[in-house]
Amino acid sequence: MFVMQPETPALPKDNGNQGNHSMANNPLRHLPSVNELLERPELKQLVDTVSHNVVVTEVRSFLENLRAEVQQRAADINIPAPAEMADKIAKWIAKDQTPRLRPVINATGILLHTGLGRSPLAPQALAAIYEVAGGYASVEVDIESGERTQRALAVEKLLKELTGAEAALVVNNNAGATLLSLAAIAKDKEVIVSRGQLVEIGGSYRLPDVMSTSGAILREVGTTNKTRINDYEAAIGEQTGALMRVHTSNYIIAGFSEEARLSELVRLGRSYNLPVIDDIGSGAMIDFQHYGLPGEPLAKDSITAGADVVLFSGDKLLGGPQCGILVGRKALIQAITKHPLTRALRVDKITLAALHATLQLYRSTESAEESIPLLKLLSTSVENLRNRAERLAPQMAALEWIESAEVVDSVAYLGGGSVPTQQIPTVCVALTPRQISANTLSHRLRTGSPSVFGRIQQDKLLIDLRTVMPKQDLDLINALSNVKVVDKKNEEA
Ligand SMILES: *Cc1c(COP(=O)(O)O)cnc(C)c1O
Repeated sequence: MFVMQPETPALPKDNGNQGNHSMANNPLRHLPSVNELLERPELKQLVDTVSHNVVVTEVRSFLENLRAEVQQRAADINIPAPAEMADKIAKWIAKDQTPRLRPVINATGILLHTGLGRSPLAPQALAAIYEVAGGYASVEVDIESGERTQRALAVEKLLKELTGAEAALVVNNNAGATLLSLAAIAKDKEVIVSRGQLVEIGGSYRLPDVMSTSGAILREVGTTNKTRINDYEAAIGEQTGALMRVHTSNYIIAGFSEEARLSELVRLGRSYNLPVIDDIGSGAMIDFQHYGLPGEPLAKDSITAGADVVLFSGDKLLGGPQCGILVGRKALIQAITKHPLTRALRVDKITLAALHATLQLYRSTESAEESIPLLKLLSTSVENLRNRAERLAPQMAALEWIESAEVVDSVAYLGGGSVPTQQIPTVCVALTPRQISANTLSHRLRTGSPSVFGRIQQDKLLIDLRTVMPKQDLDLINALSNVKVVDKKNEEA
């Protein structure tokens, strides 16, 4: 059996009151045995409710750590009484029973918060997951012919229909899609990319690193602010394997700047018989200009412009499950599909089911807007948010530890690797706590029940309603009511 080891509870440091368990002779003699601790009522009860193995493992590791600490720095350790030890171990076990991955209310105002799992799924996607997850499903066999994946085929068909591409493939995420297409198309060959497009998306994704991992060789051209089509052409040689364009999702180069257009890259690629890979990042299916967010590339526009392979994420503006989508020319997609990495980056039936249901919604913009949470949150009017904020603020202000709860206008962001200059108007409740700082309040709400993530601004905690679903308003009040402001010290001990 695999048992998760929690971090071991910290030992109490001696805070000056020497003496009760003096370390004069061998202090290890004072340690209780495993069995002795197991007999304590706090732990005995957990043996029945959790598991004997878990409790024994925790007791052992607690005692081992204590022993090690005593040997290392005997002089400054107060060995706790057995009752205190048992209580501490019991609390740790109980804490560990609550999963670390749990639902949270996103009141940060960042719609595609990568740390909070990016896009929430539509009810149709959830239903589709529910339908296939608990049993067997036609994942790898076609019901008619007994051959290819029924569901993957259905997803590919929808992707072709929605983007106009000849073929499609779905893998684990867009980083995987990029790695895979570079490995399959341009291993040991040069891929020409503008210096203005060598993106880093949130820490661990850096295009030059993905490129080198794939075995392709990065050939940078142009400058940070200006790259012309001639710069690409001048770099083409024997070793060239592909031309690549990367959407600079999370930054903009403004001012004295120039970029080659995709259509120019396509023309150049055709004349040298080189494929053009277009990493568009967020993969909007509909024009986000309606939501006041211009400049988000559409997969179908890239296909129309002639890109050979277009790459995008499933869990950004598409509003679906985490995955990476490749659409493009049939021969290239087929070649990519045969690469061994495809198997390593394969998605499961749960992803396919959710993606299929999400894509189906895009067959009509109305049904997408009605059901996809991201689009609903984005299209909620400011008046609507203000009404909710005005309803919630007095309920929050009524809590005795809240000094004030004001309704304020603010700005929300798409997040998840999108441009920070794209500002989305929003309304927040700004909380000023009494007795504790905004930071402490933020921590207590995060660790509370239900867990709430807000954002700190000028010593206030903002609860941004742009990212809170209306059905969560009551949960928000409950979470705030559950925050304990006094006597927290004793509780955390
Ligand atoms: C987000 C993004 C990626 C990485 O996609 P993941 O789905 O997070 O792996 C790659 N390229 C661009 C341009 C992006 O915006």
